[in-house]
Amino acid sequence: MKVTVIPVTPFEQNCSLLVCEESAKAAVIDPGGDLDRIEAAIKQSGARLEKIFVTHAHVDHAGGVAELARRTSAPVEGPQRGDQYWIDVMEEHGRDFGFEFAEPFTPNRWLEDGENVRFGNITLEVLHCPGHTPGHVAFYYRAQRLAFVGDVLFRDSVGRTDFPGGDWDTLVRSITQKLWPLGDDVQFISGHGPVSTFGRERQTNPWVSDRELANPTNPD
Ligand SMILES: [Zn+2]
Repeated sequence: MKVTVIPVTPFEQNCSLLVCEESAKAAVIDPGGDLDRIEAAIKQSGARLEKIFVTHAHVDHAGGVAELARRTSAPVEGPQRGDQYWIDVMEEHGRDFGFEFAEPFTPNRWLEDGENVRFGNITLEVLHCPGHTPGHVAFYYRAQRLAFVGDVLFRDSVGRTDFPGGDWDTLVRSITQKLWPLGDDVQFISGHGPVSTFGRERQTNPWVSDRELANPTNPD
C-alpha cells in the first residue's frame, strides 16, 4: 500500500491517500477540504477512489466528505456514532473557522471497535479511540505496521479534550489501551504534523510518555 499525505484546509490537516497498487483502487482518510488537491493526487496515482474513511467529524477532517462522496460516488465509512453531534454542528463550526467546505454528511456505514474496513486488496482494522471526540476511530494497517490516528495522538502532543464531548481520562485510556499495545515500532500518521512511532511517544511525549503517566506533572 502506498500512502500520500495531502495537507488540506487552513488547519493543515493531513488527509491521507491510500493506494492498493495490486488493484489500482484507492481510499482517502479525512478529506476535510481542498478537494481539487485531493482529486489531483488521486488522478496522479492512476487509481480509482473506492472508499472514503473518516476518523472523526471535526470540520477540518470531514468538511469535504459529502462533496467528495458526491463527486466520486465513493461510500463513506466512519466515524463511530458518538460523533453525530459534530456532524450536526458542522456547518456552524465551519463558519466559525472560515471553512469553504463544511457540509454535514451521512456515513454509509458507522464503525465500531474491532471491525475492519476494506478497499482494493487492503484491510484496515478499526480502533474506537474516544477522548478528543466521542466517536473518534483510528485505522491500523497491520501488514505495514502503520496507524492513522487522526487527532488522538501527535508527535510530542495529544488531541485537545476541551471541546464538547472531550475527556482527558478517556483520551489517555484510548492511547494506552488501544494504540500502545500495537507495538513501539508502529508508525503513525496524525491529523496534524509529522509522522512518529508509538515507541518514540512513549519515551518523549510530554503528555503521555510512560514516565509522565506514572508520575503526572501537577499543572498547578
Ligand atoms: Zn479534531
